[in-house]
Amino acid sequence: MHPALHSAALPGILHLITVVHFRDPWDAHIFRGRLEADGVPAFVTDDIVIGMRWYLSLAFGGVRVQVPNAYAARAAQILEDAESGTFEAELVEVFGDIDLLRCPKCSSANVRRRPSLVEFLIGIGLTFMNAGKVVANRCTCRVCGTRWTDTRYDQ
Ligand SMILES: [Zn+2]
Repeated sequence: MHPALHSAALPGILHLITVVHFRDPWDAHIFRGRLEADGVPAFVTDDIVIGMRWYLSLAFGGVRVQVPNAYAARAAQILEDAESGTFEAELVEVFGDIDLLRCPKCSSANVRRRPSLVEFLIGIGLTFMNAGKVVANRCTCRVCGTRWTDTRYDQ
């Protein structure tokens, strides 16, 4: 990019600031929706290529959510509210129990979800054949370390 394009003094040019990176495209689009609901115009980049080849997400630096420079501070505040659970508390207030994935031992919602090794290897094979995706229902609590399998949506 031409150095002059980085200058904030240039009027009429849209300067996009990356607010956050996500590994998965759907997380980026959910957050974009949250920003737009609060009147912040937002853009998701690299979601298509990472959606097709998710294992390249790290190489691409993840899926980026960007906003115009003038909205960067507001977007950062919305991100902080999202990560701190402010919006989650509002949802519970409106809808009651929102069926969050919680640790069965300490009830924390700070849970990591990932596939087992076998599911991961099968998922890679299916992805190369464009035939499916990885099933991720192995859960680990980031607070107390409890491990369990989430079967809530198994059929
Ligand atoms: Zn726990």
